[in-house]
Amino acid sequence: MKGLIERDRGLLWHPYAALDGPAPYAVRSASGTRLQLESVEGSRFDVLDAMSSWWCAIHGYRHPALDAAVHEQVDRFSHVMFGGLTHEPAICLAEDLVALAPGPLQHVFLADSGSVAVEVALKLAVQFQAATGHPRRRRFVALRGGYHGDTTGAMSVCDPVDGMHALFPGLVADQLFLPRPPAARTIDGDIADSTNSGTDSGTDIDGWVAEAERLVAAHAPTVAAIIVEPVLQGAGGMHVYPPGCLRALRRIAEHHGIMLIADEIATGFGRTGRPFAVDHAGVAPDILCVGKALTGGYLTLAAVLCTAAVGRAITTSPHRALLHGPTFMGNPLACAVASASVALLPGYADRVTVIGRELAAALAPATGLASVRDVRVLGGVGVVQLTGPVDVPAVTRAALDRGVWIRPFRDLVYTMPPFVCGTDEITAIATAITGAVAQVHG
Ligand code: PMP
Repeated sequence: MKGLIERDRGLLWHPYAALDGPAPYAVRSASGTRLQLESVEGSRFDVLDAMSSWWCAIHGYRHPALDAAVHEQVDRFSHVMFGGLTHEPAICLAEDLVALAPGPLQHVFLADSGSVAVEVALKLAVQFQAATGHPRRRRFVALRGGYHGDTTGAMSVCDPVDGMHALFPGLVADQLFLPRPPAARTIDGDIADSTNSGTDSGTDIDGWVAEAERLVAAHAPTVAAIIVEPVLQGAGGMHVYPPGCLRALRRIAEHHGIMLIADEIATGFGRTGRPFAVDHAGVAPDILCVGKALTGGYLTLAAVLCTAAVGRAITTSPHRALLHGPTFMGNPLACAVASASVALLPGYADRVTVIGRELAAALAPATGLASVRDVRVLGGVGVVQLTGPVDVPAVTRAALDRGVWIRPFRDLVYTMPPFVCGTDEITAIATAITGAVAQVHG
């Protein structure tokens, strides 16, 4: 295995990492909630996966039902083109998603990754506006601190500073940004419709809503949609904001004839303690993006759902079609395992809420550390925010020595554990995070 890491070095790009950056750990095997890892020095670790492989592997690794779904589909056919052809796995999955979706979302586009789903959602909104007599409505309103993916359309609606827009002049479109919504108070792993005075939220809900009303009203004739990660901004800072802000955006969008796009790629399928994060606010989007946990982390797949009104407008427009169609659209293996994953979701109906309570209790001691600025938990998302940047290699190693795999970023040490984790495992993850932070940062 040591040889593997050496062969990787300088050959493979890793996410947001230099070719000569810190050595990765090699995965020897993965099963249930555990990963077997080896370091470049040859140390072996049998650890709990506190990341669900970037929030995807909600059922853990090598789940029998998911393994079986892939095997069965491999024995039928692994891939066929989706142009002019269809198949049972795609149809079944689309039916499942429409049944599960928040609000009356009726049409499904199967994309190959979260970023591509966001591209499709943006195009859907622009095509809808053009089809309904608003061809000038081509821009987007997004939130500061948001993250929607790494392709150029998605990048344009990411936070312009974090997303390093300045590096790609002419490539990344110029969009409109609302300030980051104020931080919400979280209690026992659930969200309150009030702000958290302990963080730098800066503004109150009413002030933020007034700013949203002003910005959208000023630009409405050129805006196709508002795009948000509902209630929890993930990769942009694990920031929880009040459902009231989302309700206000729904109302503002409605008022101006603008689409509301909910990017639930990170939050969908129960991660925040509700089936979808929009459920915290009781609102439905016009367009919904899901991905990540869609296949239980087995294969890359995302989906974009839209209302009948959007579908009708595009179908009756001169182009008639949604202008997108990737090679691996509706990949049968991915669809089959996604349906198997979705079928397991009712089993976690209350479990994520309980995980939230368990995480909140077990992470509470971290609030007493000098290096910790804030601790917050929303459903299956536990966040320890430091007062400065995390020493990522050192904290990662300190957590591994405590039996847990984490991947901190910026000033954040966090967990999004698999939903199959038991109480003891949740406690072990929280204890390891607190211990690792205390050891490295004090
Ligand atoms: N939107 C959100 C909210 C995400 O968290 C991510 C991935 N972290 C994406 C979009 C992009 O998804 P992908 O990495 O599958 O392209």
